Amino acid sequence: MDFLTLFGIYVLVVLACIALVCKYSGKQQSPFHTLFNFITKILAPVTPKWLQKWSQKSMHSLFHERSNMFIYLHLVLEGAVYTEFTFEVFNFCREMETALTSLCVPYVLLIFKTCFFYLCISKDPGTVTKKRVVGQVSIYQYDRRMFHPGVHCPTCQLVKPARSKHCRVCDRCVHRFDHHCVWVNNCIGALNTRYFLLYLFSVCAMAGDIALLTTDMLLHVVLRSGLLGASYIDEYDQQQPAGFLFVIQHLFMSFPRIIFMLGFLVFVFFLLGGYALFHSYLALVNQTSNEWYKSRGYFCQHCHPASAVDPLKTPVPEHSKRYFYSHGILRNLGEIFFPPRLPKRKVN
Ligand SMILES: [Zn+2]
Ligand SMILES: [Zn+2]
Repeated sequence: MDFLTLFGIYVLVVLACIALVCKYSGKQQSPFHTLFNFITKILAPVTPKWLQKWSQKSMHSLFHERSNMFIYLHLVLEGAVYTEFTFEVFNFCREMETALTSLCVPYVLLIFKTCFFYLCISKDPGTVTKKRVVGQVSIYQYDRRMFHPGVHCPTCQLVKPARSKHCRVCDRCVHRFDHHCVWVNNCIGALNTRYFLLYLFSVCAMAGDIALLTTDMLLHVVLRSGLLGASYIDEYDQQQPAGFLFVIQHLFMSFPRIIFMLGFLVFVFFLLGGYALFHSYLALVNQTSNEWYKSRGYFCQHCHPASAVDPLKTPVPEHSKRYFYSHGILRNLGEIFFPPRLPKRKVN
């Protein structure tokens, strides 16, 4: 396979990853979403009806119904990265005498990440139930801006505690609702935000560490081979120095899988790094992503009817605090890592 074909496949896969992320992020007004709708409209006349229905149905079930699809995808991607690392990068690094301890760090991080991932998937995010609702209502005050007392969820038939939201995917109300995460197929709420944060950071650390070890390996390969000082004969029979682009092309052709993995890891690292920082900021100011979107009037029209975001119907009182639930950084973090316990019911 020549360099251009390989590079074309590489760019296509990276674009597909970005497209997938934009699609599931729920930002209906993202440029990708507009482009996606535009392409769908253009292709509609030449696409058979059954194919259109099937693709719409499968996209809907993938993003708007509970499905383990993304958990399997997550495990497959992780498996592919670790197989590549173990059977290629690890051996190269050992030959280059990289310390065994630093080569074991990705495996230790994998153990931590797997624990947090499992906890995110399996732990109850704080479902509002008949038994718990009285206790959950007493935990947070209603800010009378985004959350009002006496509002009932028409589906669960229960009063909505402040900071709760009905998840359409899981069909339940969740206390201190943050968002529904397709990668863990669970809501992120009062009881599992801590695991979610640790999971995000451990994935970033894993991706960053393997990317660093791989870059170090490739640098050693380039330095050892003397490629930087090499030269080639151009079409005019002139000797030209190899240069940086030549080195990149050589690495692409010699280690296609490793370069592909490195590109993927860098992409994951920056994407999840930004996301983890955003969630850390929310944790520090005691806000959920749901509240963050609400406070900016940024809504997914699919999940929130237009009337719900009409600023005339939900006026913001002048005196209201920007971060209504914030009680200082330490207490805010404490609330995430040690969620408030439900008060015990009095036994008569
Ligand atoms: Zn509900
Ligand atoms: Zn959910």
